[in-house]
Amino acid sequence: MKAVIIGAGMGGLSAAIALKQLGIEVEVYEQVTENKPVGAAISVWSNGVKCLNHLGLEREVAELGGIVETMSYVEAKTGDTMCRFSMQPLIDEVGQRPYPVARAELQLMLMKAYGIDDIHFGKKMISVSDGSDSGDGSDSATVDFADGTTVTADLVIGADGAKSLTREYVLGGPVTRRYAGYVNFNGLVEIDEAIGPATEWTTYVGDGRRVSVMPVAGGRFYFFFDVPMPEGAPYERGSARKVLAAEFADWAPGVQTLIAALDPATTNRVEILDLDPFHTWVKGRVAVLGDAAHNTTPDIGQGGCSAMEDAVALQYAFRDHPDDVPAALAAYQAARTERAGELVLRARKRCDVTHAKDPEKTAQWYRELREEDGTNIIRGIVGNIMGGPVT
Ligand code: FAD
Repeated sequence: MKAVIIGAGMGGLSAAIALKQLGIEVEVYEQVTENKPVGAAISVWSNGVKCLNHLGLEREVAELGGIVETMSYVEAKTGDTMCRFSMQPLIDEVGQRPYPVARAELQLMLMKAYGIDDIHFGKKMISVSDGSDSGDGSDSATVDFADGTTVTADLVIGADGAKSLTREYVLGGPVTRRYAGYVNFNGLVEIDEAIGPATEWTTYVGDGRRVSVMPVAGGRFYFFFDVPMPEGAPYERGSARKVLAAEFADWAPGVQTLIAALDPATTNRVEILDLDPFHTWVKGRVAVLGDAAHNTTPDIGQGGCSAMEDAVALQYAFRDHPDDVPAALAAYQAARTERAGELVLRARKRCDVTHAKDPEKTAQWYRELREEDGTNIIRGIVGNIMGGPVT
């Protein structure tokens, strides 16, 4: 059996590793010519780490992961700690430590695990079709590339990201994503305890905004700033420090230290969008996976983890239906749409509270944070983590 995977992001590569482990012949095609992930880092929550462990990457991901011992919320302007609590109860409950990881390193880890030389770079898919649709009666799916070449396979997995062309094919037309109302600036800086403790995930909150740092390996903080602003607001590349200094002028000294430390040239600026969950992920021998299937806001840090869950679920589906592509893809779809859709909606809800869609609800959240001993926040995070394919 041969599978073609479109997209060498964390979803496509996890799926490639997962299918290869079953002995399926896998070919990965990626439009970019080199490994250049968008964004600085991600938090791989325990459910994502369990999927990577399942794929045989336990040691590798632990080496890349930052150690988060505690979590805190800090009042934006005064710098007063609203709450601080240990992550240990969460780790005990779900049985796995989460790991914030630099994106480029996660990407390289996955590429090496699959085989960098086996990834076909510079191959932009321009169309995909299922055999029965293409009218030739064959039991295969076909992908056409911008360079004029074509591949056929027993199945095609479109892990082609948030603007997926495969999704358009599977759903029969384009969809409109929803702007979530804010822009995320993110990057990496050297750890500086004037910003937050070295083993803490620190989040400054106020005015429907947040500024956050968490450790990744190599003595670095992954940082991000959320700034509510209109979609398509003008931005001059490299001006992150100037913009953030103006937006957060009256925030606490730790935030000012972060703004002074960041490198404006490497700070990313991402407009945040998501997509209403949908439950058709498969058309014939073509299926979507990762952001192509469930594009979420990053507010609960689950988009990439959910893509890793897809990959393991896909492996289980082909393990259980080894010679039957339609049955395996149907099992994959049945296993994933509800869970992934729920994470999208949970993230959307959290996004609205964090970014003051209803200012009174956000003010209530700030009051709750001052009373918090970690129990409620950990319960919420555990709720996100539980329910994946690897228990
Ligand atoms: P992508 O990573 O987008 O990869 C898709 C790949 O397909 C790309 O390499 C692209 O070049 C390629 N491609 C696209 N079209 C074609 C084509 N036509 N032909 C060939 N190749 C193509 N998730 C978490 O789990 N935790 C977090 O903390 C977290 N934080 C985030 C913070 C921000 C600011 C953002 C924006 C997202 C965050 N996410 C997080 C979500 C996470 O980044 C995504 O869910 C994840 O990258 C999805 O992986 P993917 O492989 O599906 O898609």
